Amino acid sequence: MKLIFLGPPGAGKGTQALGVSSRLNVPHISTGNMLRAAVRNETPMGLAAKKFMDAGKLVPDEVLIEMVRERLSMVDCKPGYLLDGFPRTVEQAEALEQIASPDRVINIAVPDECLLDRLTGRRVCGKCSGTFHISKLTDPGVCPVCGWTLTHRDDDQPVTIRQRLKVYHEQTAPLIGYYEGKGKLRTVDGDCAPEEVLASILAALE
Ligand code: ADP
Ligand code: ZN
Repeated sequence: MKLIFLGPPGAGKGTQALGVSSRLNVPHISTGNMLRAAVRNETPMGLAAKKFMDAGKLVPDEVLIEMVRERLSMVDCKPGYLLDGFPRTVEQAEALEQIASPDRVINIAVPDECLLDRLTGRRVCGKCSGTFHISKLTDPGVCPVCGWTLTHRDDDQPVTIRQRLKVYHEQTAPLIGYYEGKGKLRTVDGDCAPEEVLASILAALE
């Protein structure tokens, strides 16, 4: 199964991807996580990408397309993939058609009003990639899954979040119509409990 998760920042793509990729036995490929790893490792690509990410802007298409092309050529992608955070522009979607066309696109819909709070309160684990809302944590600094230190992402600041939402509406939301036109889109309500969102996604994949 070749699957894409589409949705605004904070829609829960990463959280849902963890559950869905293990059930479908396909690798979870998060371009955001790959870019953050490149930034941490201070690779030339990571250093170049960081200024776009910190500004809440998209990293140039050609960088992302090459990164995803390489990743999808790896042997673990033989059974398929679950892409989270890619494609984010029509140009990226067109490139993906040439690399490995997706079977299904899940659009996780959440109203903008909810996203700001979700993102400002978001804490991420650097070890297991888990993401948690501060309101649900007993210790806001410790991962409840693996015990590692939780951090606040550099781009989860209110000004940057507003910019990321603007970029989403301008550049990524057109992909909803793009995949609808191909008959591949299924929209699920992302504004409810994670288990309910997971159930809707699994139903949409039947
Ligand atoms: P979010 O939580 O906002 O969905 P991600 O973790 O997926 O964010 O990505 C964080 C940042 O990495 C984005 O704001 C963007 O700068 C960059 N990025 C990730 N994926 C892409 C992509 N497909 N195209 C361009 N930039 C990307
Ligand atoms: Zn963890």
